Amino acid sequence: MPDDLLLRLRRFHDHTFPGAQEQFQNLVRDGQHPTILFIGCSDSRLLPYMLTGSGPGELFIVRNVGAFVPPYDGYVNGTEGTQDGTRRWVGYHGTSAAIEFAVLNLKVSRIVVCGHSHCGAIRAAYEGVADEAVNLKAWLSLASEALLPVEPGPEVLRRTEQRAVVLQLERLMDYPMVRRAVDAAQITLHGWHWVIEDGEVHVFDVHEGAFVPASVAGHSGTGPYQPYVEHDGQVLV
Ligand SMILES: [Zn+2]
Repeated sequence: MPDDLLLRLRRFHDHTFPGAQEQFQNLVRDGQHPTILFIGCSDSRLLPYMLTGSGPGELFIVRNVGAFVPPYDGYVNGTEGTQDGTRRWVGYHGTSAAIEFAVLNLKVSRIVVCGHSHCGAIRAAYEGVADEAVNLKAWLSLASEALLPVEPGPEVLRRTEQRAVVLQLERLMDYPMVRRAVDAAQITLHGWHWVIEDGEVHVFDVHEGAFVPASVAGHSGTGPYQPYVEHDGQVLV
């Protein structure tokens, strides 16, 4: 029985790679100099290269369940998302390491946090996960501050997905090297919400205090970070 995955690898090497061989070899010779750190959800329907029209060497990507940013100091309040006053170290985080490497070593000029519609992580943050999934349960607590105290219907889920993106932008600002670079106008932060069914990214506009479809947005990012203000005037977090 043919191994379809093996056939795909062969197809890439034989048919796709020749067309990009020089580009890849230049990237080996000169090293990588990506300007964008892309923090995206692991969801298979989110395609960073396709969305941004990027090729080899352009995006430094880290993906995880929900597109979350762990706290810089590795500590979260309480247990399982509760706020009981205790602080708990939550272990190693590849995403935190990637942020530090991208800013300090690669010196990226943009950081994108990209959530999306119909995100299973956000739904699971409301509905819970299997007891055995201890890591997933702890990880989802990184969205707990974005959850709304209502039944999670489609509109609530959509709004929570967007609130979660802004929450991660705020957490990014707790990384001293990110804050320093943002204050020095060397890095811009971009909060994106990919609406799968419409084929459009909505970008967070700090002046509008809302996510705006890319087709009508004036820019792709937030510029200098300011607190997110909801339509009802409530400042998020
Ligand atoms: Zn997701």
